[in-house]
Amino acid sequence: MSENPRDDHRISAQCPACQLHELVPVTLARQADGSWQQVDDTGNFVTRALGRLRPSGSGPQDTGGATVQIDVCPVCMGAWFDHGELDVLSGDLDDVEQVLAPDQAPAQRPCPRGHGRLVEQMLPGIIRTPVDRCQRCGGIWLDGHERRKLARATTSEGQGTKTERWLKRGAIWAAQVLTHLPVEVDNPARGTPWVVYSVLTTLFAVFLLQIYGPVDTYQWAMVPGRLRAEGDWWTLGTNIALHASWVHILGNAYFLYVFGDNVEHLFGHLRFLAFYLLAGLVGATAQALLTTKTAMPVMGASGCIAGVLGAYLWAFPRQRLFQVILWIQVKVPMWIYLFVWVAFHLVMGFFGTGAGAEGVAWFAHLGGFVVGLGITPLVLAWRRREVARRVRVPARLPPDALVAMPPTTSA
Ligand SMILES: [Zn+2]
Ligand SMILES: [Zn+2]
Repeated sequence: MSENPRDDHRISAQCPACQLHELVPVTLARQADGSWQQVDDTGNFVTRALGRLRPSGSGPQDTGGATVQIDVCPVCMGAWFDHGELDVLSGDLDDVEQVLAPDQAPAQRPCPRGHGRLVEQMLPGIIRTPVDRCQRCGGIWLDGHERRKLARATTSEGQGTKTERWLKRGAIWAAQVLTHLPVEVDNPARGTPWVVYSVLTTLFAVFLLQIYGPVDTYQWAMVPGRLRAEGDWWTLGTNIALHASWVHILGNAYFLYVFGDNVEHLFGHLRFLAFYLLAGLVGATAQALLTTKTAMPVMGASGCIAGVLGAYLWAFPRQRLFQVILWIQVKVPMWIYLFVWVAFHLVMGFFGTGAGAEGVAWFAHLGGFVVGLGITPLVLAWRRREVARRVRVPARLPPDALVAMPPTTSA
């Protein structure tokens, strides 16, 4: 990103794994208990709350002076460790070179420092998937889900290997590093989600106008039978700004707030806005055409938000969200969110409109969700090309790119 000649050592590379983002530098500092945690620019440890990270404490903590800067992909959470960085993180326990298996195979991914293709090597003992390593600079790439899986494996059975001394050392080394590494780090590159904020503001303003003001809810809602008879097609657009109750709008606002900012960051503001509106319009149209409950007024941003959920599933399939429930921090897998989303609309159907489960505009939700699943791969392909253009090292190498493969060493 930066063309400043002073930071020539700065990596400017597309994420070699998901290709959806350039790598961003993240600073880790050693905590009092020996584990590593992300710090922000002012030296504050960053802690998680309500799905995002925010600085904790009032002033810089004592980090013992030990900090390491790694390069992380904010989308897939994969991380690049320059030569020696993993060793610093593991303490002075071992040198990663000594625990890597000697066998190597060429990988598809390039070194973010521009040295051509990485090679796959095993970190034996506990790790079943190979890590990607650059033979020129000695850097190592770890996938986000690998880091997560390894951290689990090393804590449960990692110490169990016994036969060969270097296998055991490998296990201890990996356990040391991986259990102390923060598995997920903040996305320092995330900008302000202006579209999400604007949409939220609009939704609440319109809802207040519905309650206290001149907006006639029934007139602007989409009534399938009326639309078919009178052709008031504009209600396909107006209904997505309306809501039926406080529970309805608060539920939708919550889901948009949690998922929308990540998707907006990935899509870009205007593309996200167009996508959001398209999901709502397609959803409302599907409801208008397909429902048999033609007298039921349809309203709400649920179709739009179903689209955002579909996009999120494509873009962050392995992501789990941090939530604070009664002061306890838990990681919530995506499928629980989908379940809660459906349950929320069932409850809305039963108690929100008094019309039973038929009160849910299922076709509108389904339509929005299909838009999310269908359009997102195209947007992501677009995004990958954009990222490739603005970095020094794109993730797809030309066919004649250098393959760094010096002779293999023996154990
Ligand atoms: Zn990535
Ligand atoms: Zn390299």
